[in-house]
Amino acid sequence: MSKIIMKTPLVEMDGDEMTRIIWQYIKDELVHPFVDLKTIYFDLGLKYRDETDDQVTIDAAEATKKYGVAVKCATITPNAERVKEYNLKKMWKSPNGTIRAILDGTVFRAPIIVKGIEPFVRTWTKPICIARHAYGDIYNNTEMRIEKPGKAELVFTDEYGSETRSLIHSFDSPGILMGMHNTDKSIRSFARACFNYALDQKMDLWFATKDTISKTYDHHFKDVFQEIYEKEYEDKFKEAGIEYFYTLIDDAVARVIRSEGGFVWACKNYDGDVMSDMVANAFGSLAMMTSVLVSPEGFYEYEAAHGTVQRHYYKHLKGESTSTNSVATIFAWTGALRKRGELDGLDDLVSFADKLESAVKQTIEEGIMTGDLAALSVLPEKKTVNTLDFIKEIRKRLAENM
Ligand code: NAP
Ligand code: MG
Repeated sequence: MSKIIMKTPLVEMDGDEMTRIIWQYIKDELVHPFVDLKTIYFDLGLKYRDETDDQVTIDAAEATKKYGVAVKCATITPNAERVKEYNLKKMWKSPNGTIRAILDGTVFRAPIIVKGIEPFVRTWTKPICIARHAYGDIYNNTEMRIEKPGKAELVFTDEYGSETRSLIHSFDSPGILMGMHNTDKSIRSFARACFNYALDQKMDLWFATKDTISKTYDHHFKDVFQEIYEKEYEDKFKEAGIEYFYTLIDDAVARVIRSEGGFVWACKNYDGDVMSDMVANAFGSLAMMTSVLVSPEGFYEYEAAHGTVQRHYYKHLKGESTSTNSVATIFAWTGALRKRGELDGLDDLVSFADKLESAVKQTIEEGIMTGDLAALSVLPEKKTVNTLDFIKEIRKRLAENM
């Protein structure tokens, strides 16, 4: 059998710990045997980030702008413990934060649904995709601890030096303070990314904020979405038979729980952070959640939603057997290869991605799975396999379907 040929390379971002081990297994077992893989490789493992003063992360993000599609392995975001463990020069920033700041855009997260892993919410039969705004709000905030009585004000100084002030609070005792922002440019591209994604997936789009309380900040998000919808998307949505609607975040939460799924839920940055973990866990497992960053210019970066699975890695280092779930990382590869295939007009690359995803689902639905899924699966007969054997089982089924 001849290997599938690629045109444009993928930007490949390697990562850390257990997911780095899985990364190599996936390439060796599931990609190289079938695809003549072309990638531009960046090592985002913490050691090399430290060696390059994190330049490698910036280079990888810039390469994504050049080539269009990237696939990323989970990476360590250093904290004080990691600085010691890796003897780091500095507590480097989150690579995902750096990449998002360069690419801008929106993160879409969707659960992978398989028979036997039932969502905790009985009515959910279709995926709920969370669209998380990936810029601003509390993630780029300024905070202050107030130690003594005094007056806190919000001050904006325009380019000519004229000031606009607004009282935040007169403190008569200690307290805390926070300032945050967003930009029209980023909110607009967030809105367009959501409308485009909903059209692409043929799913309804829901958007919710707390505009009744935040009458300027959150209300502005609502207005921007409404304006862009009416001007640019209303007709396309009607044609596609899908709907856009806005509601309050508390109402959205209630509706989501009672829904059957099958829609895109657009969330502000913090809401998306929290809700995507809730939705992922309610659908079964964080290890079954895909994630893609879509930039306003149409660049794509695919990854798993989970981290580097540190606990499993330490077991692996001790030579103990692990049963780490590689599904979300495999779907990062299939997402990237499919998108590359679509952009380059390579039907067999698109079809390879479909077949690999089917092989993953088939393996689990036939009762062969990693420990995290075995603990959840309601299948009567199931077998727990180790990290590598799970991938080999997928390879067997993939090879049969090719
Ligand atoms: P984690 O890697 O998401 O894992 C937390 C726990 O969830 C694991 O210990 C494991 O539970 C379970 N789990 C997650 N993924 C799994 C998988 N694929 N298969 C089986 N079980 C899985 O989070 P963490 O261990 O708290 O964080 C480790 C590192 O990841 C941190 O340094 C953090 O900075 C980084 N991180 C990176 C990203 C990213 O690059 N996108 C995202 C989040 C975190 P059991 O131990 O109970 O089996
Ligand atoms: Mg989170």
